[in-house]
Amino acid sequence: MDPSPLFYQAGPALPEVSHARGVYLWDEAGREYLDGCSGAISCNLGHGRPDIRDAMLAQLDRVAFTYRTQFENAPAVALAKALVGLTHDQLQKVFFVSSGSEAVESALKLARQYFVASGEPERRRFVSLRPSYHGSTLGALGVTGYQPLEAPFTDITIGSLKVAGPDFYRHADADDTLHVERILAETRAAMEAADPDTIAAFILEPVGGASTGARMLGQAYLERIRALCDEFGCLLILDEVLTGVGRTGTWFAYQHYGVTPDLLATAKGLGAGYYPVGAVLARADIVEAVMGSGGFQHGHTYAGNPLACATALAVVEAIQREGVLSNVAARGCELEAGLEALKARFAWVGDVRGLGLLWGVELVADSDTKAPFPAEQNRFARITALAKEEGLLIYPRRTLDGVAGDHFLVTPPLTIDAADTAELLARLERAMVRFDHELS
Ligand code: PLP
Repeated sequence: MDPSPLFYQAGPALPEVSHARGVYLWDEAGREYLDGCSGAISCNLGHGRPDIRDAMLAQLDRVAFTYRTQFENAPAVALAKALVGLTHDQLQKVFFVSSGSEAVESALKLARQYFVASGEPERRRFVSLRPSYHGSTLGALGVTGYQPLEAPFTDITIGSLKVAGPDFYRHADADDTLHVERILAETRAAMEAADPDTIAAFILEPVGGASTGARMLGQAYLERIRALCDEFGCLLILDEVLTGVGRTGTWFAYQHYGVTPDLLATAKGLGAGYYPVGAVLARADIVEAVMGSGGFQHGHTYAGNPLACATALAVVEAIQREGVLSNVAARGCELEAGLEALKARFAWVGDVRGLGLLWGVELVADSDTKAPFPAEQNRFARITALAKEEGLLIYPRRTLDGVAGDHFLVTPPLTIDAADTAELLARLERAMVRFDHELS
């Protein structure tokens, strides 16, 4: 019988972690792993940082927990001001939570309550992309477009109008511009058919994460979705749970495109793996309307507690102090070049795409037709297992939108240096050589 009472996933027993420093972890058997995916794209500053530990210990010595309606706490106010500053004051209000799913839930509820408060209660529906991942709680799952996760729960989630986003790898349109035009025309038609006056918000990830293997949406598409939301009078929620706090080389991914959301959800990298913390950033007038109607009917016990906020503040300050965003740009170029070289060498690497230190590698059975591997072969799991044997952690997924297949993410800590980036690529290459031998 399995001695562990934990039931996170089926599959072989996991190695027991011993300790971690920088971009490396070690298990109890003494094996070393290069953290090529920052855990779940969350340990963005690497492991075992004394500055974050010191900030956490200092806060623990003062006060670890206070409830948000009983006390103001200085780290929460300072962190909120810092986050607003990172948006260049484009989003002026902040609501803290403890996870990405909670951040998305909060954004959906805030959008809905805003329309109730402003006399448009019929706006209760959401639009989202398929495929997409917005979290596993029922609200966030309702807007998620990821079949295996949705299937058991479709009858009991809020659901959303799911539309396709651009797919610059697989589309069969004459060129990318026409592809975006077609996708937008379909989206507009779907929203019109659903009655735009019933739509509260459009939610999307500005750069795809785990559900699409870092599929890019691009400037033109994002600009036009912003315009469509304005035309139809609904809000634009950007899910930057994965892309926020530096992952793509800017504080938030939307800043590459100059397309400003009305609400933004962020989490993962905000606590950088040291403490669970997330946030919703919002336009002031949205929050004022909601607060004027009696307050936001929402909240979680641990939201914005002093320890969470002191940790996240230390994370933001470390990114600023150490020029981490410049490192993301430099290492991102090296990673892109290395992954492109591997793509040129192995025919089964169909596509390499990404931004900053968020890279997706899509595997295909046939690079001409772009046909995916048969699902039952579980190739994404196999290449991940081989990488782990070579001492490298990567983040695997299968894109289940009916077309695309296996992919993995390469998303090392934003602080990785050039030598460890080269080491990451060397370990990945060894895993890919072994994967290639198994295929032939
Ligand atoms: N949104 C996106 C884009 C994510 O990638 C994730 C997690 O992977 C979530 C939401 C949910 O975050 P959490 O797992 O912290 O609830």
